[in-house]
Amino acid sequence: MRVLLAGGAGYIGAHTAVALLEAGHEAVLLDNLDNTSAVVAQRIAQITGTTAPLVVGDAADDEVVERAFSEHGPFDAVIHFAAHKAVGESMQKPLEYYANNLDSTFALLRVGLAHGIRSFVFSSTGTVYSDPADLPFTEEATRNLVDLSNPYSKSKLMNEVVLQDVQAVNPDVSITSLRYFNPVGAHASGLIGEDPQGIPNNLMPFVARVAVGRLEAINVFGDDYDTPDGTGQRDYIHVVDLAEGHVAALEKAKPGFAAYNLGTGRPVSVLELIASFERAIGRELPKRIAPRRPGDLAATYCDPAKAERALGWKARLTIDDMTRDVWHWQQGNPGGYEG
Ligand code: NAD
Repeated sequence: MRVLLAGGAGYIGAHTAVALLEAGHEAVLLDNLDNTSAVVAQRIAQITGTTAPLVVGDAADDEVVERAFSEHGPFDAVIHFAAHKAVGESMQKPLEYYANNLDSTFALLRVGLAHGIRSFVFSSTGTVYSDPADLPFTEEATRNLVDLSNPYSKSKLMNEVVLQDVQAVNPDVSITSLRYFNPVGAHASGLIGEDPQGIPNNLMPFVARVAVGRLEAINVFGDDYDTPDGTGQRDYIHVVDLAEGHVAALEKAKPGFAAYNLGTGRPVSVLELIASFERAIGRELPKRIAPRRPGDLAATYCDPAKAERALGWKARLTIDDMTRDVWHWQQGNPGGYEG
């Protein structure tokens, strides 16, 4: 299969490109390098021995997408990773988030469908679920746009509505929405990993930067939640498992719209994640308890059974695999790709 990966030079896109190439597919990356580096394409080639060409440009621009199709097509499928993804920032810049996260979908669908793609896979999120009464979240858990706390999550749910309407009038096309829980980890080679710009929003890259001395101490946001150790619990999934979920979604695609949770189904607390990281590096890390962050749920984790049933996919890697691989990546690239 020949696949266009919009946002493919980003964290999850790069790991998915590797998984696709290793499974014998072909991959082309389209990325405006807003949150990544062109070095990623070289690293993918280093890992796989195969080149994934990189088209630098905006996936929300029909002309750019058209150029990717005419220069590198025909494509069987598009995977759409391109988005702004910081929950907190989305509350400050809602219009930027809605515009980028929706316009990119419109352009990719318009051009992709005109070129006859058979399959479209969308990066959605576990934050489309909002009611703790539904834990563990199944794909059917109540979801209501107005219940979501931030424009980022709303933009993802809006995308899913658009995708279902578009699929309904393109009945031969497969559209799959993958709802990721908390992707962490890095490729075992240590050549690709998460390299957020500025101060990381998510726990794992923050911990990794404390470990290499780029940040002073880990903030534990809230230690009085109704969880076993009082800190928030998340469903961390190794990015390599997640990448393989995309390969499974493409290989098992059938006409229709379907949404799948991609997670492990196992909640891990902030303190458990930090303890695992400390085991990986063999020393304790400085940490301090900070107030809860508004909008954070005490716990989020999924029921991943539907993906296993329909796609034959299941997460295999543990939290210790995730922290070990992050540490390997961070040590080899203390300043990120450009460092
Ligand atoms: P990332 O920022 O590393 O990757 C996104 C890539 O898209 C970046 O390389 C960025 O430069 C690019 N991009 C953004 N807007 C673009 C545009 N208009 N045109 C072309 N390229 C554009 O993020 P990621 O963690 O790899 O996330 C990939 C997808 O998964 C996103 O849609 C994100 O919302 C979703 N997701 C991520 C997480 C997470 O915690 N990482 C969780 C759930 C869902």
